[in-house]
Amino acid sequence: RLELRHVSRRFGGVNVVDDVSLTIAPGQVTCLLGPSGCGKSTTLRIVAGVDRQDSGEVRVDGLLLSDDTRHVPPEERGIGLMFQDFALFPHLSVAENVAFGLRGTRARNAARVAELLERVNLPDFGSKYPHQLSGGEQQRVALARALAPRPRIMLMDEPFSGLDERLRDEIRDATLDLLKEAGTAVLLVTHEPDEAMRMADEIALMRHGRIVQQGAPYNIYNNPVDRAAAGFFSDIN
Ligand code: ATP
Ligand code: MG
Repeated sequence: RLELRHVSRRFGGVNVVDDVSLTIAPGQVTCLLGPSGCGKSTTLRIVAGVDRQDSGEVRVDGLLLSDDTRHVPPEERGIGLMFQDFALFPHLSVAENVAFGLRGTRARNAARVAELLERVNLPDFGSKYPHQLSGGEQQRVALARALAPRPRIMLMDEPFSGLDERLRDEIRDATLDLLKEAGTAVLLVTHEPDEAMRMADEIALMRHGRIVQQGAPYNIYNNPVDRAAAGFFSDIN
């Protein structure tokens, strides 16, 4: 269970994240949806521990990860990340990249890697190196790497952007299955309302750093808090 309590972050006098509170249960996908610059990535960076809030708390299963004085380093948080500016390790093969965070036996890791490469539709790519892959292929390997250790918490920032539509649907469904199977609590950032409608158990609409509306996708779709929220969904049919 991931909890943000009254988290705020200022840059140059502007509240980029403004009193954000969210709770995400195991197996639940919460989608942070909002226009460019509203503070989505900053919120994720604070949860990941690569940025610090000015006030408020981040907790996992009740355990304090950060407040204005305490700060557990990112590598000790047990949080999986799939960010826009992901990078594979260039000197490791695809299989080694995916296995990177795994702690099991060699045989068990190999089975997990094969399963994941299958799920992201790259079954024969294990021995290739990142420079031999297209951007979309690298992105799918990064996704497999993030999912491999079955993190209890997963933060995803536009993880499917740049994939063509058919592939995106397929990878999105496979990712959702893996996350649900593992009971992962997911905070997913997207610009795309239809992605939010398809993936989220709960949508949090963000604007100017604040959560302006939160609820089940169809509640928000049917009962938008204002015109701007309604406009966000107007492209979906
Ligand atoms: P996008 O959808 O375009 O990715 P976002 O919602 O993820 O947008 P953020 O990256 O969280 O937006 O940025 C929110 C605001 O905070 C922006 O106005 C950005 O310029 C500002 N900002 C982010 N990081 C910093 C920083 N390190 N220093 C100063 N300002 C920053
Ligand atoms: Mg962003």
